[in-house]
Amino acid sequence: MVVSDSNRLDLNNCSPNLAAGLAPVTSLHRCSVCDTFVEIIEQGGAEQTCCGRPMMPVLAISSGPGEKAHLPVLAHHGKSLHVSVGSRRHCATEYHHILWIELLASGQSHRKFLGPGEAAEALFNIWAGQGTVRALCSQDGLWEKGFTKIKTVPVLGKGAIPINR
Ligand SMILES: [Zn+2]
Ligand SMILES: [Zn+2]
Repeated sequence: MVVSDSNRLDLNNCSPNLAAGLAPVTSLHRCSVCDTFVEIIEQGGAEQTCCGRPMMPVLAISSGPGEKAHLPVLAHHGKSLHVSVGSRRHCATEYHHILWIELLASGQSHRKFLGPGEAAEALFNIWAGQGTVRALCSQDGLWEKGFTKIKTVPVLGKGAIPINR
């Protein structure tokens, strides 16, 4: 197979974020009429519309009202990262539940999708010393928690070891 010059990967022209190994960040938009979510992998020029109206950007929240039910709580289990959404249990009804939990680290995205009736938690079998965890609620928006410099702690029992930022 012949690779044409136009298809050749030009390393000098890579995205600065990916070249530096940082987590890729996508942007979310929501329709205020039908509640459709759209995720933009790379923004072009066009405006996102749905139901005949511009879609609203969904900005990440890291504190404020609803924090106890939505801000991700991180804990190490050996070399895995356990994430639960909120310090108290989030509801999981058809109308109001967590849609997904995502780990962004080392230029990678790892996401667990959830539905009604499922516990709002995820176990990522990935070692990540720093990164960002995001959780999307069907009603209360996108919640985000960053973490840095986590030490490897041996598992001495079944309990999770809380991560302090
Ligand atoms: Zn719509
Ligand atoms: Zn919620």
